[in-house]
Amino acid sequence: MGLHFLYSCINTLILAAIIFLVGRKAIAKMFRTRRERICRELDELEQPPVLPELPTPAPEAEAAAADPQHPDDAAAKITAAAEAEIALLDRQHQYHIHDLRREMLTSARADFLQKLRDKVAALMAEEPYRSLLRAKESIIADKIIQVADLTPGDIAYLESKDVLYVTLTSAFPLPQDIVDKIGDRTSKLLYDIGGTPSYWVRVDPTLIGGLRLRIGDTIYDYTVDNMLYRAVRQLNASPMPHDIAIQSVIEKLTSEIQSLSDDIDEFQLGRVISVSDGICWLDGLSDIMYGELVEFECGERGMILDIEPSRIGCIVFGRYEHLESGSKVRRVGRMASVPVGEELLGRIVDPLGVPIDGKGNLWTLKTRPIEHSAPSIPDRKSVSRPLHTGIKAIDALVPIGRGQRELIIGDRQTGKSSIAIDAIINQKGKDVFCIYVAIGQKETTVAEIRSKLEKYGAMDYTVIVSATASSSASMQYIAPFSATAIGEYFMYAGRDVLIVYDDLSKHAVSYRELSLLLHRPSGREAYPGDIFYLHARLLERSARLSEEAGGGSMTALPIIETQAGDISAYIPTNVISITDGQIFLETDLFNEGQRPAINVGLSVSRVGSAAQTKLMKQVSSQLRMTLAQHRELASFAQFGSDLDDVTRRVLDSGDRMLAALRQGRYNPLSDAHQALIIFAVGNGFADTVAPADIERFETALFEYFDIECPGIMAELETGNRMSDEFITSLREKISLFLTVSGF
Ligand code: ATP
Ligand code: MG
Repeated sequence: MGLHFLYSCINTLILAAIIFLVGRKAIAKMFRTRRERICRELDELEQPPVLPELPTPAPEAEAAAADPQHPDDAAAKITAAAEAEIALLDRQHQYHIHDLRREMLTSARADFLQKLRDKVAALMAEEPYRSLLRAKESIIADKIIQVADLTPGDIAYLESKDVLYVTLTSAFPLPQDIVDKIGDRTSKLLYDIGGTPSYWVRVDPTLIGGLRLRIGDTIYDYTVDNMLYRAVRQLNASPMPHDIAIQSVIEKLTSEIQSLSDDIDEFQLGRVISVSDGICWLDGLSDIMYGELVEFECGERGMILDIEPSRIGCIVFGRYEHLESGSKVRRVGRMASVPVGEELLGRIVDPLGVPIDGKGNLWTLKTRPIEHSAPSIPDRKSVSRPLHTGIKAIDALVPIGRGQRELIIGDRQTGKSSIAIDAIINQKGKDVFCIYVAIGQKETTVAEIRSKLEKYGAMDYTVIVSATASSSASMQYIAPFSATAIGEYFMYAGRDVLIVYDDLSKHAVSYRELSLLLHRPSGREAYPGDIFYLHARLLERSARLSEEAGGGSMTALPIIETQAGDISAYIPTNVISITDGQIFLETDLFNEGQRPAINVGLSVSRVGSAAQTKLMKQVSSQLRMTLAQHRELASFAQFGSDLDDVTRRVLDSGDRMLAALRQGRYNPLSDAHQALIIFAVGNGFADTVAPADIERFETALFEYFDIECPGIMAELETGNRMSDEFITSLREKISLFLTVSGF
């Protein structure tokens, strides 16, 4: 029994040993592999992922071989992709260089101006200029006394406050007699109207030399500092200044100090109270007028748009982030204006007249204020000369005369801009200057318009004034006014101008934004009360001038975007009532393929028919009738399927006529061609042609007449009324065309 027990113990031990020896490795292996896996995963997490290698672009030949079915396609794709990439890199590079150059220029200019200032300051601190400046102080004081006076703003201030602040500043401590002399003069000025001066005398070495007297907000200045400021302003308008310019400025300054020939500079200063969202509130500048320009210390400019008893509101052109409250503002002394002249043709400028097309500066010395009163009634003449747009539906049904204002109105993407661009392209060789104003458009849209105008050779006589959606509301607000000023230059010089405002809805929105920021009370649709006046005073400037007033004309094509065809909204009704007619574009027509999508029933031209040629009048009279009958019957016909022959005939001829009025973009037609197709379709020569084939019919007809009947085309070109004999021969020729062409 005892032996049995011993054996079983030994067996168990042997079994346990075997299990330990064999199983240990398996268990250890199991744990080890798990631990290894965890370690590996942790390692992977810490390491950056290894990206698959980028395939090296295959050379053209290889790529072509890889795609044996379309070898040319593949090669072309790769070439196109490579070219696009190169073009992109090229553009980025150009932009980069452009930015870099601008930065370098700005910093070089700043360095230069500092150098100029230092040089002048050092020179003036030395003899003989130092003594000369000191010796002339008395004469300068006498000159200042002669011109110093109170402005209406000072008098108003005195009446409310009884006191006016007067400060005399000089570069060196002044002798007492000069201080007293000026003090007496100002006291006398103020006593005359019952006020008292608060007279301060200060020394400011940064003036370098000379005297500066401040009475209220007006400064009478004869200091070297101010002379430098003026010289720098002149230099800023010239190309990059260099050392010769420093020398010439110094020479001018020294001779001026010796002779004292210049007048005392008189200007007004104010202070910035606050600035936000492109609007700046100012203090001081008591005599400033609405629409005047002001200049901030940093060189940015602004325009006064609001005058309140306690503060003045102005819009800032350009960047306003670095304007600080308390900084000085200088009255420039003139209304906001733009450069004008032939130099602008072919250029893209911003609303201040600064070129933004990368073709360098504009060297024109002529300017015009952006706000100008409209020509008076005696200065005007009624519209009598046509302005051909080259678009059949417009020239035949809603003709536009030179000097007319015709609104283009419709929903978004209905071809509004296209009509205006086609009208510009059609002015080639017609001695009409064109101005396209982009207000709140996308930059890509403006770029595309420019490239199209360039392609069709229209940029030679066109100026683009661009305030895109990325421009500030102030820039968008003044854009149409600046463009009109550019147009007025040509108009008053006796030339004809076509101006397109694309679009005035966005202009109204920008003015609403400014008005709300200026805390003006808002009216209907939150627009300010003077929004009608805004567009009326803009569009009234387009006119046909009488011979005595210059004889030119400005034709305006304002564009308005409607929402869901609602022409009874505030801005559309305003502009409809201001203009001499409207071209109404419809989304439904556009989607049906009737392009340009002009609704001939709602479109009207109130004065243009006076300017239409006799020929066009003759052919379009039947056209109107056909379309009116068609419109009337079309609404009934859509309910009934059984139509009598007469109704069917009227509907068919209307359909054909509408098809004949279709016209692609960038394809303006001459008056003769327009008259020919309208005559042919209107007189039933296309009755056997399906509406879808009218385009083919038109092309063939034009080709035939251009080659075979130059005499008829020349007669049509004159625009005279067609005589009966002429009509007979025209009919014969068209019949001949039908037999020849097989239509
Ligand atoms: P938006 O509201 O965006 O300013 P819009 O009303 O000015 O648009 P366009 O930009 O002129 O419209 O045109 C819209 C689209 O219609 C464009 O793609 C243009 O190519 C097309 N289009 C316009 N007129 C015609 C036409 N006569 N024939 C063919 N396509 C046209
Ligand atoms: Mg448009």
